[in-house]
Amino acid sequence: MYNDYAVLRSDLNSGKLTAVDVVKYYLANIEKGKHLNAFLSVFKEEAKETASEVDKKIKNCTAGRLAGMVVAVKDVLSLKNKTLTCGSKILENFEALYTATAVQRLIDEDAIIIGKTNCDEFAMGSSNENSAYGAVKNPYDHTRVPGGSSGGSAVAVAADMCMVSLGTDTGGSVRQPAALCGVVGFKPTYGRVSRFGLTAFASSFDTIGPFAKNVQDIALVLEVMAGWDEKDSTCVKKEVENYSSAIGSINENEMTIGIVSDLPSEGLQKEIKDTTDKVIGFLKSNGYQIKPVELPHAKYSIQTYYILTTAEASSNLARYDGARYGHRSKDSKTTEDMNVNSRTEGFGPEVKRRIMLGTYVLSAGYYDAYYKKAQRVRRLIKQDFENAFKEVDLIIMPTTPTTAFKIGEKIDDPLSMYLNDIFTTSSNLSGNPSISIPVGMDNSGLPIGLQIIGRDFDEIGVLKLANYIMRNC
Ligand code: GLN
Repeated sequence: MYNDYAVLRSDLNSGKLTAVDVVKYYLANIEKGKHLNAFLSVFKEEAKETASEVDKKIKNCTAGRLAGMVVAVKDVLSLKNKTLTCGSKILENFEALYTATAVQRLIDEDAIIIGKTNCDEFAMGSSNENSAYGAVKNPYDHTRVPGGSSGGSAVAVAADMCMVSLGTDTGGSVRQPAALCGVVGFKPTYGRVSRFGLTAFASSFDTIGPFAKNVQDIALVLEVMAGWDEKDSTCVKKEVENYSSAIGSINENEMTIGIVSDLPSEGLQKEIKDTTDKVIGFLKSNGYQIKPVELPHAKYSIQTYYILTTAEASSNLARYDGARYGHRSKDSKTTEDMNVNSRTEGFGPEVKRRIMLGTYVLSAGYYDAYYKKAQRVRRLIKQDFENAFKEVDLIIMPTTPTTAFKIGEKIDDPLSMYLNDIFTTSSNLSGNPSISIPVGMDNSGLPIGLQIIGRDFDEIGVLKLANYIMRNC
């Protein structure tokens, strides 16, 4: 119905339609798109009730900045008194005790939360096939994956089941599904958005980011979510700029764009390479300086990422022991039995694989060889970005090596699955802000994403260029 919040809001303000109409429209689409399996819970009645409250506020001119914006939230983010499954059997009936700061800030501005979206178990995956509640399907081709781990959130926006959704990005889980589903997905700088209420996977990597159909809506939502929060000690005390009003103006001649000359290009689909080159050509002809940069250690990103995130995950996931909350195995004789059986029954194969891997790289005999070494490589990757950003303002590269692959194609081959993250993990290792925007289709009619990475806390630069490309290219 509406691809753009500003247009919707002006129609809400003028009384052309009501927030209740908007909610009904999205609920009908959720019902129509049930086979895509994008939602794990839908708050039908509650969303309509909230909408009617919002309508009153709009009439009284007391409505917040996001009044009537219908939002879906990935099911790793807490919403008080609502189930928080994390796509896992181990938390099947668990209800959250509080609301995540990022979600609360949207609610405080009168956004309407319509439901929780499906995802890979504990956000571990690139295809959404690791959810205990079934795979999510790509709306462009139901035999293909939507990407992961925030696949449900990407599909919810792509299939018009909400206006905006929230996902989480630890190694690409917002940008990769955005690319595969033809929508915009943004990963903020680490520390820009509070992680309070986000179920931890790899705490030094985890970020919360929005999906939308355009950059303007991403900027607005980010502006509301971002900023210091006393409940997250890694959240940075730094002023939040006015992203939504800053992104419109751009001075091409003042911007230098980097293209990575030593990017690992093995397995890069030709149409993705060609489309990326086309965008670069377009920028060049419109006055942008294009300059090659090197990221010499980026080729180690996947290895480094999978050592460090599994190490952090093995520690974070130790809390699911059947004792305090979540699934508890029925017939265990000792506490240890209960712990082992609850975890054996509650976790899926990918989560178990990562816990094992993480425990291994942290174990006494291997800590130096794997964990410590990977931490050093992480520092080098960060340094690579710092060096590159002395030369250029922004870096452009593909988001993914291929467009959406077939459901089942990679599930038995973790290495080939992990390689899907080849272009996204480096900015999680370094913490830099990055976005994926849709820039075209391959020969089978599947969406192609382009990634833009910026300096730490230069969300504005990233959003500006993204907006410019989407509007003009
Ligand atoms: N696909 C990556 C992984 O499996 C990224 C996950 C994420 O960003 N949450 O770890």
